[in-house]
Amino acid sequence: MESLTFCQTEGVDAYIPDIQFRKRDERFADRDRFKGGRQKEAPFSLTDFMFDPDRQRYLCPQGRELTLHARSQRNRYRIYDVYHARPQDCAACPLRERCLSKPSASRRYLSVPTTQPPNLLDEMKAKIDSPQGKKIYARRLAMVEPVFANICVHKHMNRFTLRSKAKVDVQWRLYALVHNIGKICVFGTLN
Ligand code: SF4
Repeated sequence: MESLTFCQTEGVDAYIPDIQFRKRDERFADRDRFKGGRQKEAPFSLTDFMFDPDRQRYLCPQGRELTLHARSQRNRYRIYDVYHARPQDCAACPLRERCLSKPSASRRYLSVPTTQPPNLLDEMKAKIDSPQGKKIYARRLAMVEPVFANICVHKHMNRFTLRSKAKVDVQWRLYALVHNIGKICVFGTLN
């Protein structure tokens, strides 16, 4: 969120994907096909739980109730109401592996975002998911990633040793200079 705020203040038209962006993109629907071994089923998410408006509870995929545990809990940039299941229900459940965050967890907690106006993260998600956003981000793979890979992995210039934006800016330009000199050496002259 800080980087989004920074880009907004500086007037930078940034495209910053969240870690879930491929899950929302139908082009990556079969992205796990090359993974070996037994494919794990996707963990249960909020959409797998049904809200019962009469009892103000959620029902899990096993039909067990999750009752309200805490209201208005802030987790990073969102506010959630948190529901939880009874430990005795989860202890004997055949779906534990797919439902609980870790094998030792005693019960399922379900965080439900409360209604809030869209924030910068929502706006960035919409931007990344748009046809234009997908096109622009795809170009990064070909144009930007090889540069970072060369600078960080091949040239081992993988950290800044100075502090302050001005000094880091100078150091980054020097890194870019080294990268560009390397390209000129390999591919020829500037024109
Ligand atoms: S682990 Fe608990 S919450 Fe999850 S499906 Fe089983 S009983 Fe329901």
